[in-house]
Amino acid sequence: SFRLITTTNPATGETIAEYETLDENGIDRKLEQASRAYSDWKHSPMERRTELLNALGDLYEDNEEELARLAVTEMGKPITQARGEVGKCASLFRYYAKEGPPMLDSRFWDLSDGGRAEARWLPQGPVLAVMPWNFPYWQVVRFLAPTILAGNVGVLKHASIVQGVAKRMEELVLEAGGPEGLFQNLCVSSDPIGKVIDDPRIVAATLTGSEGAGSAVAERAGKNLKKVVLELGGTDPFIVMPSADLDQAVKDAVFARIQNNGQSCICGKRTIVHADIYEEFSDRFITALKDVKLGDPMNDDTELGPLSSEGQRDTVLDQVKKAQEEGCTLVFGGEKIDRPGAWMTAGLLTDVPLASDTGTDEIFGPVGQLYKAKDIDEATTIANAIPYGLGSAVWTNDEDEKEHFANAIEAGMTTFNAVNGSRIEAPFGGIKRSGHGRELADFGLHEFMNLKTLVHP
Ligand code: NDP
Repeated sequence: SFRLITTTNPATGETIAEYETLDENGIDRKLEQASRAYSDWKHSPMERRTELLNALGDLYEDNEEELARLAVTEMGKPITQARGEVGKCASLFRYYAKEGPPMLDSRFWDLSDGGRAEARWLPQGPVLAVMPWNFPYWQVVRFLAPTILAGNVGVLKHASIVQGVAKRMEELVLEAGGPEGLFQNLCVSSDPIGKVIDDPRIVAATLTGSEGAGSAVAERAGKNLKKVVLELGGTDPFIVMPSADLDQAVKDAVFARIQNNGQSCICGKRTIVHADIYEEFSDRFITALKDVKLGDPMNDDTELGPLSSEGQRDTVLDQVKKAQEEGCTLVFGGEKIDRPGAWMTAGLLTDVPLASDTGTDEIFGPVGQLYKAKDIDEATTIANAIPYGLGSAVWTNDEDEKEHFANAIEAGMTTFNAVNGSRIEAPFGGIKRSGHGRELADFGLHEFMNLKTLVHP
């Protein structure tokens, strides 16, 4: 039966559009189309795939402003960051076009019986991608670019609140010259996704989003013995040691926490500062976080806009309330702003007990946490005292300390002396409850391919 998905501008609370969801027949037609597209695309020459990737790079670049504004309207991120996101997508399409083909080269072995073995990368079929609203283009392109190169095809279940972006992304693949069915948007709520995973035409699934959604998709895929890649939440440490450049560390600690209006899986959510510099750092950090320019996300100078929805904002407000009940100190902010839309102020918590919900849950909004560590061991303990293991950032100019953190932080990524973020050339993903598998680079490209061994005795 048809249901409507309504999108809302979180900066104003106004309705943007209504989308009719697909019924069972509609989903079936899309899966049939995906299956048909795959039977051709798996045979497409490499030049056809790289041409399409380059054409998509051009289209994303040429339409950067329009695409950026659409994302801002649907989920409220500051426009400068939305432009950056679209530009990053263009770069990734081009990167895989240029650097991807050799990642698919076969490897060969001489066998002890005198024969030869080859391992060859082959595509596998239509892959389901369940994606979130926070980087509504980038999260999808991180899946789409390698899918195109691999010879697979993609079916997208995008977050309900960014259906305009989802629709536009489907159109852009066609505009770039991609075949019908290569990449389709399933306009549905999450209800029918279990059945889509059951469907034999879908060979695997990837999900970026919350633990709950990840575990629901992984459970269903497991029942069907289908592979999953999961990129889930995190509550990343941002560690500042005495040798750090404090000016830059303060600036970046603020940006790390409030980027994307505080709603990034790899936001620096827990700022952990060595005791020797704690007082100085904390004074400056508090001043800078209070100074963040909150406003209309369409303005170029806005640093913090609304949250993605009123529901998301209320979740964060509840977390702030609970933090106080758990004994944390709310230093400032973290309050609802009384106007239409999903607005709240940035805020900061201290005295967070490590074992509390506040200390271990992901806060997906602009409320930071500040910890004092008496030495490097305590900094490491605080960094790892969470069920997640996605990203991390460490500020130090001491090579031994870098080496220590490189091995000791339980995470899929550590960035030194900069804001942690995914890089188009390098693998990305997490451990522990942040998920498993990798996106980007050759590792991401290979996740949904068949590494077929050919033996010639
Ligand atoms: P969700 O994880 O619920 O949404 C991500 C995607 O999963 C959406 O497309 C959603 O669809 C879909 N989905 C949700 N539940 C299921 C399910 N049972 N089966 C299949 N698909 C499902 O994120 P929310 O928007 O609800 O945000 C909640 C929290 O998730 C945030 O507070 C944050 O902590 C975390 N989050 C983390 C992200 C990250 O990058 N790590 C990104 C987004 C959220 P639909 O929109 O239709 O529900």
